[in-house]
Amino acid sequence: MRLAHWSTNAEQWLQQSPQADAQAAAYFQPATCDQLTLIAADHPTVSHPLRLHLAAPARDEWHSGIAHHHHGLLFVELEQWSSLSEQAESLFGLPLLMARANHRLQSCDTMKKLYAELARQVRSISGYDRVMVYRFLEDGHGEVVGESVDGRFESFLGLHYPASDVPTQARRLYMLNTVRCIGDVQSAAVPIVPEVRTDNGQPLDLSFCHFRAVSPIHIEYLQNMGVAASMSISIVQQAKLWGLIACHHYTSRTLSFEQRSACEVLGVMASSYLLTREEDASNKAISTRQKDYHRILRQVAQSDTFAAGIQQSAEGLCQLVQADGLAILLEGQLRCEGSCPAKHAVEAIIGQVDSEHVWSTNCLSEALDQPSPNDSRACGALAFHLDAAGQSSLVFFRDEYTHEVAWAGDPHKAATQTAEGMQLSPRRSFALWKETVEGRSRQWSDVDLDMAGELRLGLLELLGRRAAELARLNAELSSLNADLDSFAYAASHDLREPLRGLRQLIYFLRQELEEDPTKIEGRLQALERQVNRMADLIEGLLRLSRAGRGDLEYSRFTLEEVAREAFEMAAPEPDRSDVTFEVVDDATVVADFICMRELLINLLTNGLKYNDNATKLLRVGVVRPGAAGTPEAPQGSQIYYVTDNGIGIAAEQLDEVFQIFRRLHPPDRYGGGCGAGLAIVKKIVERHHGRVWIESTEGDGSTFYFTFSANSDV
Ligand code: ADP
Repeated sequence: MRLAHWSTNAEQWLQQSPQADAQAAAYFQPATCDQLTLIAADHPTVSHPLRLHLAAPARDEWHSGIAHHHHGLLFVELEQWSSLSEQAESLFGLPLLMARANHRLQSCDTMKKLYAELARQVRSISGYDRVMVYRFLEDGHGEVVGESVDGRFESFLGLHYPASDVPTQARRLYMLNTVRCIGDVQSAAVPIVPEVRTDNGQPLDLSFCHFRAVSPIHIEYLQNMGVAASMSISIVQQAKLWGLIACHHYTSRTLSFEQRSACEVLGVMASSYLLTREEDASNKAISTRQKDYHRILRQVAQSDTFAAGIQQSAEGLCQLVQADGLAILLEGQLRCEGSCPAKHAVEAIIGQVDSEHVWSTNCLSEALDQPSPNDSRACGALAFHLDAAGQSSLVFFRDEYTHEVAWAGDPHKAATQTAEGMQLSPRRSFALWKETVEGRSRQWSDVDLDMAGELRLGLLELLGRRAAELARLNAELSSLNADLDSFAYAASHDLREPLRGLRQLIYFLRQELEEDPTKIEGRLQALERQVNRMADLIEGLLRLSRAGRGDLEYSRFTLEEVAREAFEMAAPEPDRSDVTFEVVDDATVVADFICMRELLINLLTNGLKYNDNATKLLRVGVVRPGAAGTPEAPQGSQIYYVTDNGIGIAAEQLDEVFQIFRRLHPPDRYGGGCGAGLAIVKKIVERHHGRVWIESTEGDGSTFYFTFSANSDV
């Protein structure tokens, strides 16, 4: 609360000369000092309006002030109030004006109307000759998108101003201090003394001061435009400077703190309305395109090949990002649909893209640093890869968009060449200057780019799924090939043997027919045996092929019910006297019932067949998790088993028995068999993505274990 710096015109206001280190009480009445103490304790950089009571006021004069603190200094800016009655009147009307402005802004249904209404409302509160809504475009240059202007002056609506008209350092300041006022461009700036801080030698930071002097370049700029007073209010959206509300007056003009605040509030209101409108518009665009996106993705997913799907959907894909052409590179093969440049240009673009991102430009000649290909109208491109190697990519093209831009003066003269290099200087000419923009397409909007990003991910996922499907089909194919191999082997060996027998028998029959027809009966019986054997083999083959075909129908049932049914079929009623069958540990099974029954029939039949015991014991069950000496079950699945007390299988033959037509015994022992049973068991287990294995001791019985993979859909 001691005086550190003052403006050189302070004496004229305070009615006494300022003294460094003097107490605040020397200049302000106690009530004002108390207020200032409170402000100093409040949030930094927030401006507070106050009625200032000077210790030595001039007659009839009173002041208003604005105070804020920043970096340990309390800044008090004094303003002279005009007559009390005039102020009271304007203050009285403000709330009503604000409410009306809010209502009007709210009812605007298009962006264009919103811009115009905003300008009109700010003008009605501030009384400036001209109020413009100035929007920064992608490259930093600005356009007047809304305006309210006194009929005596020409309109600036639609004019473009180069980016250099609002330099970067000014933009940074506009984000901090959102309202700037220049009451009179002719008035001289008043210095502040001492110039640097006495405590740390740093220059004063006036970023948050309302009456901070403006850069002389800006003053000259305004003078060149014929402007005498100005105010600008920042429109900030999502921490970015969206644009400005720029007010010009052609004679000097000052506003009260309240009026300035009202305009600032309008700026805040406008930015929230603008944001909502912009979001509405972009949400609408996104939702229609989202629908198209899902439709196209489904189409590509359902087509025979990915390449065919993309080619058939080329038109829809173009619409998705609003492109005029699409170049499709898939595994090195290039195909163009719609408006595309020559192959070398497409290749040059693909060379620019990295595997992780969507690449885009609205000016190919600039992006590729080569003259635009004159064989096409494509000027804009958007591209992404569909693999890490860049062998598969999509490149979308946009045609040239020739249009005229009306500049407020030649934008190329915004900076002048001096001996020190390019220097920013205020423009002198604001005469309308039209430029025809060529060699560029329309900009890719945020929605276009988001859509492209999503499309890239969607297609990558689809490709991944196709690759997985292909891998599955390959695995299936190789297992089918293996089956085919063993079939060929079996057909050539096992079927040949009864065939050979048949031939031989026919030979004997012929001979015996000539010699002694009575011998024929025995031969005929042998012939019948061979034919039956052949029929058995063919029946086995058929069963195996059936086990591998048709869709699986998963359902839930108990082990008990399927095992009992299988047993009924494996050992029909009359032959059961010497058999003990039991289902130990019942469990719920999720599998194809018919397949599971077929599997058990084969195992149970073998258990009975390959068994010399007087009492044949068959046991079906489930391995309890954690039971001693039991194998580990795969995640989420159970291990089932069938145990018999039969003859057992030698360790070295455990794997062989699953081969088709593989028999360990001659056909005339143990009731014979064609050797297809265990091949069928293996096939069924594989179709359920499970595993089958045997534990056996010769002479002491065997246990067949099998698992089915978990199916969580049932
Ligand atoms: P088969 O039709 O000959 O029974 P499988 O494929 O069912 O054909 O069995 C192949 C061979 O494995 C059988 O010939 C038999 O020698 C042996 N085998 C199968 N199950 C058992 C078992 N439970 N105990 C002992 N040997 C068996």
